[in-house]
Amino acid sequence: MDIFKGQNLLEFSDRFKIDTDCKEYLVGLKSEIPFKCSRCHHTTCQTGADFSRQCNIYRHTESAMADTLCHKVKFGVRKAFFICFEMATG
Ligand SMILES: [Zn+2]
Repeated sequence: MDIFKGQNLLEFSDRFKIDTDCKEYLVGLKSEIPFKCSRCHHTTCQTGADFSRQCNIYRHTESAMADTLCHKVKFGVRKAFFICFEMATG
């Protein structure tokens, strides 16, 4: 992740103050990838307030965290970001 390079911890923690900042960042990454529903392979969707994306056909929701490194973490996305940062810079 290029964003982790050349930053110090202070800048990093300022950029990612809360979980939502991290989610917005991840969603920004994901939004560059065209949506494709994992169930019906439909490609149009609506984006919800919590950054999830909802397939226009079956109306099921894909989490903003799906397919990202933070999908499976149990301790919160922001903490996961800091772990990534430490691995990238340490
Ligand atoms: Zn679908």
